[in-house]
Amino acid sequence: MRVITVKQPGGAEQLQLSERPKPELKSGELLIKVKAAAINRTDIINRQTSSGYLDFDVLGIEVAGIVESAGNDTGIKPGTKVMGLVNGGGYAEYAVMPADRAMIIPDNLSFEEAAAIPEVFLTAYQTLFWLGELKDKETVLIHAGGSGVGTAAIQLARQLADAHILTTAGSSQKLDFCKSLGADTTINYKEQDFDKEVLAATDQYGAAVILDFIGASYYRKNLNSIQTDGRWILIGLLGGAHLENINLMELMSKRVQWKATLLTPRSDHYKAELTADFAGRALPLFEQNKLKPIIDKVFPMEEVQDAHRRMESNQNIGKIILKMDE
Ligand code: NAP
Repeated sequence: MRVITVKQPGGAEQLQLSERPKPELKSGELLIKVKAAAINRTDIINRQTSSGYLDFDVLGIEVAGIVESAGNDTGIKPGTKVMGLVNGGGYAEYAVMPADRAMIIPDNLSFEEAAAIPEVFLTAYQTLFWLGELKDKETVLIHAGGSGVGTAAIQLARQLADAHILTTAGSSQKLDFCKSLGADTTINYKEQDFDKEVLAATDQYGAAVILDFIGASYYRKNLNSIQTDGRWILIGLLGGAHLENINLMELMSKRVQWKATLLTPRSDHYKAELTADFAGRALPLFEQNKLKPIIDKVFPMEEVQDAHRRMESNQNIGKIILKMDE
């Protein structure tokens, strides 16, 4: 089968088409004929550095496709259309997936649309509801609103909590799109101080939950933006990993609940439970067109280098998809 591998750690030019044997099916797994996979920042980190936290020969952590064969114990028949997280190996014509994290693709979605769901919707769901404990009508600040995770989080916060949603992004085009998804207050972080805007929009209370993809460069403004007793969930470091001159008393006096997470290295069991909870609560909303996968652009497998470059240059709104050959 054809797959995408990395020649050596480095830029997008290191991505190459290679040949590998089809993966072998183990008990409890599905072998999937992959129709579409999606690009994630974690793939870029894994491409750039051999010291990443994952060690995949073939990149890719999510796929949509058709079950080619299934272990007896899976309860899923060959021919079923599924989407979900894989433990690496997603940029490939075939991939294996633990059966207990496969989601049946709703009839109204294409394979490309289905591939745009698992990683960003599961991350947004986990971050908002499992870690952020977002309650009905609470205020949530979602950074990088035009990102894959951001576009999913805005929709989930609207549909499942009817939250007061504030979002930041770096262009009016992205912010207009966030509004169309359900954001109430949009802030251009390149032109405005987002903390001042958050306080102005919340009668100076601040946000109950912050989804922080940015890290170090947003630390001070996030601290200003969070409510006393607020939940601040760190899931990305696009603005740096190192903080200097931090006075921990500031976190204590605001009684900030600071949590951090990485989904990909979590256990199979955790991913299965998260998938089941998400599928129960959110999948029907895709069938009802209340939630929608957001596709930025679809690239053929051969153009994977351009797909990575598009994400790295922050151009995308929503997901970048790789379509496998028929
Ligand atoms: P994405 O679609 O590539 O979008 C990221 C966006 O963030 C960019 O388009 C850019 O939009 C904005 N951005 C980039 N650098 C920035 C900076 N220094 N300051 C402010 N904004 C910046 O990303 P994604 O796939 O949704 O992922 C978003 C983040 O979540 C990534 O950091 C990813 O690693 C993380 N993530 C974490 C987990 C987890 O489990 N912890 C899971 C999935 C994703 P603008 O034009 O608005 O600047």
